[in-house]
Amino acid sequence: QAKADSGASYRFFATRMNEQAARASQIEICLRQAIDKGELHLNFQPIVDYEKNRVVSCETLARWTDPKLGVVPPTEFIKVAEDCGLIVPLGEQVLREACEFFQSCNRNGLQLDGISVNISPRQCRDADFLPRLREILDGTGMDPARLQLEVTESVMFDDQRVNPVEILEAISNLGIKISLDDFGTGYSSLSYLKRLPIDTLKIDRTFIMGLERDVDGQALVQAIISMAGSLHIEVVCEGAETHEQCELIHSFGCSLIQGYSFSRPLSGVDFHRYLAKMNGVDSVAARAG
Ligand code: C2E
Ligand code: MG
Ligand code: MG
Ligand code: MG
Repeated sequence: QAKADSGASYRFFATRMNEQAARASQIEICLRQAIDKGELHLNFQPIVDYEKNRVVSCETLARWTDPKLGVVPPTEFIKVAEDCGLIVPLGEQVLREACEFFQSCNRNGLQLDGISVNISPRQCRDADFLPRLREILDGTGMDPARLQLEVTESVMFDDQRVNPVEILEAISNLGIKISLDDFGTGYSSLSYLKRLPIDTLKIDRTFIMGLERDVDGQALVQAIISMAGSLHIEVVCEGAETHEQCELIHSFGCSLIQGYSFSRPLSGVDFHRYLAKMNGVDSVAARAG
């Protein structure tokens, strides 16, 4: 009986594996074309200073609608891109377009302090990453201090041959800022705050979810914020969906919030509008154009 069961569950497992592999290779084929044709587009989610009620920055989030596959969520296509190496050209497009977008905001007199871009481990250990990064900064005229790269703790485990600390230090030496994304969801997070050149820590939204009713969760978020403060690391709370969560976060001493409570990720045009509404338009630029 046990043997028959395990046979059946093995067949079930094998079928699921085949389905997943087939889906991944289909995504890979379509994604390669989409990258070649420049069919991916970007959304931008505001990062708001809650106290000043002002947009200070935004996170760049890749979006893809394939003619055949329909909308593929980034969690799915980024994973495939990482596995098959397409993350390198994809990431380069995202970086360049994000810098261009930031420059266009500034040209339009929309005051934005910076812009964030997600970087995957495989992407930043690519031998060409640093020269490409420099080329993108030069090509777009982007001030490196306005660019923030978001990495997760998994960058530490990705590859034994390359020292991630060295890569991050090289990025940091270019004047670019570094965020530790999804903070609290990885392993032994605290030691990285000492070892890595981190400017900002983004508290993962799983810690913000249900914060109103979670006293232990509140203590945790408060402790992270105060620890980061002592280390002179900026904090952004991700995934705040309610006014009450924002109030709590603010009462813990953190004013930078990214979440549906302010805005979902927006198209470039909608982000421009949101920015103009929240921050106002520089009068000189407004008169000029
Ligand atoms: P992430 O970097 O942690 O980005 C934040 C995610 O949380 C985004 O999901 C955003 O839409 C979502 N989010 C923000 N506020 C809220 C909220 O209040 N409630 C809820 N429920 N969700 C919120 P998204 O756009 O689906 O992206 C998922 C992940 O895909 C990102 O997580 C990032 O790891 C990855 N990703 C997206 N674009 C890129 C990219 O260009 N390059 C790389 N390497 N990864 C990317
Ligand atoms: Mg991120
Ligand atoms: Mg995150
Ligand atoms: Mg995430």
